[in-house]
Amino acid sequence: MTPAPQHSAPVPGAPVLAASGLTKTYGPSTALAGVDFHVGAGESVAIMGTSGSGKTTLLHCLAGIVAPDSGSVVLRTAQGPLEVTGLNEAGRSRLRREAFGFVFQQGLLLPELTAVENVALPLMLTGVDRGAAEQTAATWLAALGLAGFESRRIGQLSGGQAQRVAIARAQTTGAAVVFADEPTGALDSATSAEVMDALIRSTTERGRSLVVVTHDEAVAARCGRVVRLADGRIVDAVSAR
Ligand code: ADP
Ligand code: MG
Repeated sequence: MTPAPQHSAPVPGAPVLAASGLTKTYGPSTALAGVDFHVGAGESVAIMGTSGSGKTTLLHCLAGIVAPDSGSVVLRTAQGPLEVTGLNEAGRSRLRREAFGFVFQQGLLLPELTAVENVALPLMLTGVDRGAAEQTAATWLAALGLAGFESRRIGQLSGGQAQRVAIARAQTTGAAVVFADEPTGALDSATSAEVMDALIRSTTERGRSLVVVTHDEAVAARCGRVVRLADGRIVDAVSAR
């Protein structure tokens, strides 16, 4: 097996992830109609738009979950540019494990595992032994304000706490890019603000990149830049700060 690609040292200034001309149709519906997108090191970008505008499809194309019909997605790595769209399913799967982190609306945490076991799982999937993985996981839980909650099962946590466990889980492998799809969709507005701050801080303060899909203006306003989609096209991109 070839050594794992090293994603932790992006070149300053250059986009970490850049997409151009992305198109995707599902039968008669056009999800993406030619989208360009980029995110830099340490940058947080919100993707906004009404339901059905193509936000999730764009996120999935950027993250190598879905293959676009045309266009390209390029990830900058220490070994040089990597054409995500040129990888086969096994390559994309490996990239998702090693270079990307994911936070979804419902966290998708495993209820039969404890908080620390959930967070350790992605590391164990990359071959790290349980002891070391759980040590790293505990450090991330503490960084997200969850010291003392390591042994709780997910059902014994509040919605906001569970979402912070999901954020910790997305960070353990040192992902170059963290993707979040409506990460606060199930939370009240105060908890949502706390969770977003934890997500942005834990990702960008280490120079890593965050891409967040949301239809919540308050969530988007916490990101460094906002990109708006309508009918599968970018209609406007503004800098929030
Ligand atoms: P958003 O996340 O902004 O709500 P999506 O990217 O989920 O939008 O969907 C964009 C368009 O593509 C919609 O018309 C949706 O119905 C369609 N679409 C998305 N995923 C699929 C799929 N797996 N099968 C069929 N149609 C899909
Ligand atoms: Mg969606």
